[in-house]
Amino acid sequence: MIIKEQASLKNSFAINSRSKYLITIESEDCLDNLENFLSKNPGKVLVLSEGTNVILPEFYDGVVITTSCNHINKISNAEVKVGSAVNWHYFVNWCIDNDYYGIENLSLIPGSLGAAPIQNIGAYGVEVGTFIKSVRFYDFKDQAIKVFNSSDCKFSYRNSIFKNMDILILEITFEFNKTGLNLSYKSIEEYIKYNNIDSSNLNQRQLAEIVQEIRKARLPDPSLIPNVGSFFKNPLVEIDSISLSSFSLDDLIIWESDSSLVKVGAARLIELIKDQIPNNPNISLHANHALVIVNLGNASQKDVTDYADLIKNKVYKTFNIELELEPSIIKS
Ligand SMILES: Cc1cc2nc3c(=O)[nH]c(=O)nc-3n(C[C@H](O)[C@H](O)[C@H](O)COP(=O)(O)OP(=O)(O)OC[C@H]3O[C@@H](n4cnc5c(N)ncnc54)[C@H](O)[C@@H]3O)c2cc1C
Repeated sequence: MIIKEQASLKNSFAINSRSKYLITIESEDCLDNLENFLSKNPGKVLVLSEGTNVILPEFYDGVVITTSCNHINKISNAEVKVGSAVNWHYFVNWCIDNDYYGIENLSLIPGSLGAAPIQNIGAYGVEVGTFIKSVRFYDFKDQAIKVFNSSDCKFSYRNSIFKNMDILILEITFEFNKTGLNLSYKSIEEYIKYNNIDSSNLNQRQLAEIVQEIRKARLPDPSLIPNVGSFFKNPLVEIDSISLSSFSLDDLIIWESDSSLVKVGAARLIELIKDQIPNNPNISLHANHALVIVNLGNASQKDVTDYADLIKNKVYKTFNIELELEPSIIKS
């Protein structure tokens, strides 16, 4: 276990952030020491990995915990156990190299393995929860290691049971039973058609490259333009509840969902009201994607939350739709 004081915290929104303590757990053997440390230093605890889905405060007055468990163990032709500190995109490439099918659509999503189940990361028609057999984690409340199988995890759109638990994910077991490629997402279909690609001959690597091309055209690279990806979830609403006094349904993007609710494209809602959001010298919407808020250089946490509130209020007043944030706002 490594303990640092006044450590600076990595985050893709590039907020200059530090914490009272930063602890790195190198293996499960460190958990007794961690319990000891926390009992002697009671207070707030935050689990943080690569910091690509959080808006951090300038100072976190508590203990930040991260892991460096970076093993990838092949168990069988279908099963793999992976440590929480492994980088997600690295793992996608590893799966492609080792013929495990299914997560190539999730290529280039920033962040770590350990965070992937928390919001059930998803993109281009695929969600990570589909491939998770079990999640091994430390439960801070019960001070015990637990294993949840896939159904215990209660995966749904950008959500899981873990969002409401105080836990440190240590290892994930994946089960890959599929062999074909998932090409059914609209922007993948359009890319294939536009570029005259013969989809019957596509392999996993080529699909991952297509996904990367599409992503790079729309999403800013956080190492060049600090951001946390999509800032708002696509809301699920009753279609009759949408206020249409300023725009018509044809102006919106609407997908059917499993329930009686419809999923509304949050990016389009924001595009339609963005001219009414006052300019802020520290922060703005990304030119290619209205769902992405970018740090223009000097943004504080308050700049971000104020700006997000302005957008939420304007969308609510215009469409009677409540937007929900995707990243976690971490209180100081
Ligand atoms: C440019 C960009 C594009 C993105 N595109 C997508 C996308 O297409 N789809 C998508 O779903 N997401 C996307 N994201 C969001 C982000 O990549 C994911 O949420 C990712 O899983 C976050 O990983 P992280 O390691 O950075 O987590 P962090 O930001 O460090 O943490 C995120 C949350 O997970 C918790 N957490 C982290 N590690 C652990 C652990 N080991 N145990 C328990 N809790 C933990 C934290 O407490 C926090 O609540 C994007 C982000 C960016 C910047």
